[in-house]
Amino acid sequence: MDNLPLKLIDQFGRQVDYIRLSITDRCDFRCVYCMAEDMTFLPRDEVLSLEECARLIKVFVRLGVTKVRITGGEPLVRKNALWLFKEIGNLTGLNELVLTTNGSQLNTQAQALKNAGVKRINISIDSLKPEKFKQITRTGRLEKVLDGLQASIHAGFEGIKMNTVLMRGHNDDETTDLVQFAIDNKIDISFIEEMPLGEVDHTRESTFVSNADTLKLLQSKYLLAPSTHNSGGPARYWQVSGTQTKIGFISPHSHNFCESCNRVRITCKGELYLCLGQEDKVDLMPLLRENPNDDGPLIQAILDSMRIKPKGHDFDLRRAEPAVVRFMSHTGG
Ligand code: SAM
Ligand code: SF4
Repeated sequence: MDNLPLKLIDQFGRQVDYIRLSITDRCDFRCVYCMAEDMTFLPRDEVLSLEECARLIKVFVRLGVTKVRITGGEPLVRKNALWLFKEIGNLTGLNELVLTTNGSQLNTQAQALKNAGVKRINISIDSLKPEKFKQITRTGRLEKVLDGLQASIHAGFEGIKMNTVLMRGHNDDETTDLVQFAIDNKIDISFIEEMPLGEVDHTRESTFVSNADTLKLLQSKYLLAPSTHNSGGPARYWQVSGTQTKIGFISPHSHNFCESCNRVRITCKGELYLCLGQEDKVDLMPLLRENPNDDGPLIQAILDSMRIKPKGHDFDLRRAEPAVVRFMSHTGG
């Protein structure tokens, strides 16, 4: 342990320098692709405290992680979430603190998050029609999210991106409108293919929209130039010519992005998942709780975990059962 700095390099030579940490499994929305209508959430004491989250992030940054994404569930519904952002926002070695949110709390929190050191935010917006938005999120109010988006634009983040999951028969008629909205607001947009995570109330195959088809549609409406932009994530980007907007495509089905995978995920229970689509994991919570004043065992377990990071996921839409039983809100999107 004395010879730090150490790096996280897996058995395939990939360096892990990006973590996504889910700070809660709870959410004020119940998006149809993400959750079942009836969800049971974890009891409080089975969830990492914010102090434990901060400790974990500091350890990962010591191990060469330069980018941290805070996610959930809905991270901003966690009480005192802002404390965590302030605690880690200016850590030496952490180049990028970023956030994925449904936007419902941004109208009041955007400026404070920016001040705490959050560089970029992703806001999930699947529809621009209030009724449809309500139908997809089950509980969400579009107006509030759009207010949050405007507050974020005003706060001056380095980047704002909409995340959209297109579902056949639900919102796939809004593809161009969503892109035009991003262009009008001078922000980016990414289309995420629906992934078979957790049991929801429809079959994934029935709603699946491939990013290849979405790209084809958008190419018929806009002049798109392949972009060299690399966000450090799996998205492939296209620049909409004559605008400030990039369109990203996150395509776990049609484009396998595992080869260059540089990330791991940590659930709100402190489970370190080495791959979003596989079950390989290490439980960090006991190590945190049994060694309150010694990071050594934690560091060793994280270093050892690199040996079990799998080569890649193997999502298959035709399988009746979900690829993994945990929901995206549990693992953290
Ligand atoms: N609540 C926040 C939000 O909605 O942005 C953060 C957590 S959410 C799990 C992160 C991202 O995962 C969102 O953009 C959401 O659209 C996406 N997502 C959730 N379930 C998904 C699924 N089954 N397939 C693809 N994307 C999913
Ligand atoms: Fe909540 Fe985000 Fe999942 Fe929607 S996608 S239910 S907002 S965690």
